[in-house]
Amino acid sequence: MVVARTKKEVQNALAIYRSHNHQIGFVPTMGALHRGHLSLVERALGENVITVVSIFINPTQFDNPLDLEKYPENLEKDAALLKALSPDILIFAPSPLEIYDGNVMANSYDFGSLEKEMEGAYRKGHFNGVATVVELLFKAVSPNTAYFGEKDFQQLQIIRKLTRQLALPITIIGCPIERESNGLARSSRNERLSKPTREHSGFILTTLLTAKEKFGTENAHYIRNWVVSEFSNHPLFQLEYFEIVEEETLLPYKEKKENIKYRAFIAVYAERIRLIDNIALN
Ligand code: AMP
Repeated sequence: MVVARTKKEVQNALAIYRSHNHQIGFVPTMGALHRGHLSLVERALGENVITVVSIFINPTQFDNPLDLEKYPENLEKDAALLKALSPDILIFAPSPLEIYDGNVMANSYDFGSLEKEMEGAYRKGHFNGVATVVELLFKAVSPNTAYFGEKDFQQLQIIRKLTRQLALPITIIGCPIERESNGLARSSRNERLSKPTREHSGFILTTLLTAKEKFGTENAHYIRNWVVSEFSNHPLFQLEYFEIVEEETLLPYKEKKENIKYRAFIAVYAERIRLIDNIALN
């Protein structure tokens, strides 16, 4: 299992593939890998000659220092999980100073309506941090195709836009959300939930599914109020936001338009751990 620590090492390891015009797939992660990450890696393995998985906890995308401090880290375990999928995966695990060229700071981007709502509104600076590291990683790896999860759907749309803005020749693929058996979207943060809370967390998807049913007949205001009331008396979960937006622009849904896809997004706190999820409505 090759673990590249520097940009030079990753570029050297990929040179042979590039010289043969072989497809290079890329899956950026922050490690603590679970089935959600591995589903992206499996897709990349199936569509490329060589797959690069980056494992890098990006300090500039954390708006909450405690969240960064508590972020789980275990490169050996991650490498073993990847090796079980394919011994040929190239892991790229740079230090912050290496990937940021000595200056660990986020750039400032303008993603228009894509960054106004939801994570953009509640996590100040988050998408500048994400876009900065993805730009640096894309430039280091220069893949043909990169894979991102719909779990972070707003991030996926922002990365599509970033790739267009920078005119990078990289195809961005969105992959479906992997869930635990009760419906909770898989996340590295789920490990920090107590067992009973984790078991009850299927409530988040159940609420989204009922909201989807209501979307057929009710307006946005009604559905939002219903979701707020579902959470208001819940002993385990505190709702941060529930939004219905247009899938392409991420602008709030006001009235249904023809040929527009809508999606509902939710962020919830459980035991002070922040959980996010989303669902296509039509
Ligand atoms: P992270 O390590 O949290 O930055 O995630 C790395 C990539 O894995 C991102 O593109 C995420 O959207 C994706 N991902 C995380 N959790 C899931 C999941 N449950 N299902 C599908 N993709 C996921």
